[in-house]
Amino acid sequence: MAILIDRGDVGVATDVGRVREHNEDSVLARGRVFAVADGMGGHAAGEVASRIAVEVLAELADRDELHPDDVVHQLAVANRRLLESVTQTPERRGMGTTAAGVAVVTAKGGEQWAVFNVGDSRVYRWVSGSFTRLSTDHSEVQELMDAGVITEAEAAVHPLRNVITRSLGTDPAPVPDLWVMPPVPGERFVLCSDGLSNELSDEQIGSVLDQITDPQTVADALVRAAVEAGGRDNVSVVVVSASSRE
Ligand code: MG
Repeated sequence: MAILIDRGDVGVATDVGRVREHNEDSVLARGRVFAVADGMGGHAAGEVASRIAVEVLAELADRDELHPDDVVHQLAVANRRLLESVTQTPERRGMGTTAAGVAVVTAKGGEQWAVFNVGDSRVYRWVSGSFTRLSTDHSEVQELMDAGVITEAEAAVHPLRNVITRSLGTDPAPVPDLWVMPPVPGERFVLCSDGLSNELSDEQIGSVLDQITDPQTVADALVRAAVEAGGRDNVSVVVVSASSRE
């Protein structure tokens, strides 16, 4: 199975929101590698961190063929570059970033999607009207939910809701999540920073995909809806649709 992505199959949108002064998110849509990174750190270091992460991931787009291990390796390279950047510029100490995305890889005898995640940016998939979250947040509230201590509704207002448990820019390097999945006709992926998922429920995000097909129109509509809902954080969205053939 080959995965085909044409011009027009990808939508990208980002907005600083209504509260923050800087946009510390970075987005990547190059070749067949797509990602969202949400940076953190004072003195504008969050912008640097997320930009380094997407620049390192963008190097994957130049390869003829990618394998799942290449994605894991490149996330480790990004982690190392962030640590090197802090060594060179100590004011950036404490900077880090999430990274979540999808890339076309060769595995199991054909082309597959590799879905990856470090942190609390998210990857969703819409197919035939069904909208599912593929990634698992690496966050304090997700751990509390997994342990049955709090509900999803409590997590949304929990004081620890912004605390992530894995990020790029840490020593030792974080273990990324990676899932490899076959292409499904008609599917669309939505990658987003928490500025989207903290303002809109999964149902609200999914209903936008039910109503709109064009990826750029979806990305613009989601970012606009998050800003209108409060825009308390930077909000970034990448939408990828693709076709596949034998
Ligand atoms: Mg954020």
